[in-house]
Amino acid sequence: MSELHALFGGTFDPIHFGHLRPVEALAQQTGLQRVTLLPNNVPPHRPQPEATAAQRVAMLRCAIRDLPLFDVDTRELQRDTPSWTVTTLESWRAERGATQPLGFIIGQDSLLSLAKWHRWQDLLSLCHLLVCQRPGYATRFDTPAMQHWLDRHVTRDIRQLHEQPAGHIWLADTPLYDISATEIRRRRHQNQPCGDLLPASVIDYIDREGLYRD
Ligand code: ATP
Repeated sequence: MSELHALFGGTFDPIHFGHLRPVEALAQQTGLQRVTLLPNNVPPHRPQPEATAAQRVAMLRCAIRDLPLFDVDTRELQRDTPSWTVTTLESWRAERGATQPLGFIIGQDSLLSLAKWHRWQDLLSLCHLLVCQRPGYATRFDTPAMQHWLDRHVTRDIRQLHEQPAGHIWLADTPLYDISATEIRRRRHQNQPCGDLLPASVIDYIDREGLYRD
């Protein structure tokens, strides 16, 4: 069986240490060797990211230049439709087959809102969910049905992530980073420093492009 591989979707407007550091810790904990960043397409009727798709990809490439754990896949940007994770996972499976152990990484905030995702009940037939902690978000669902769903699928056995293609939820014990892209954009617009929130290579790119300025 092939190695566990994980996908990590986001708007990444811009990518920051709240994305990178918990995922690096998750990878160390679970023996995950490869994480593919998947920048989302934001459909025209939704609030647009401030950076263009090309700029968001360029920032990802700056951020991971010295991080061999990561690569980037732009398939969601090549469509005009919303980025439905389930569709992306199906296209991944169509290319790579049904047996590769595959994770999809989300933060705790995304786990809590999972029931709003398109065809969320199909996700665990396509991947494992690997969940990073995020400060400020509850550790339990507030609806018993969702908590029951979580309890049924959570595993504490790393081998299940490596030996089975999909079907489990791993609640990773990751360091807390109280960082959001929204806060970074706000700071930039107010001329406040954000050097501790994202890689210097990404800040250099943002400066060069004049991003997140009024
Ligand atoms: P925005 O502030 O623009 O909404 P964001 O910082 O939340 O953006 P996204 O690109 O929307 O970043 O997030 C992509 C994924 O990364 C989501 O699964 C989200 O839960 C996770 N994530 C983002 N920031 C953190 C963080 N500080 N800690 C843990 N997970 C995070």
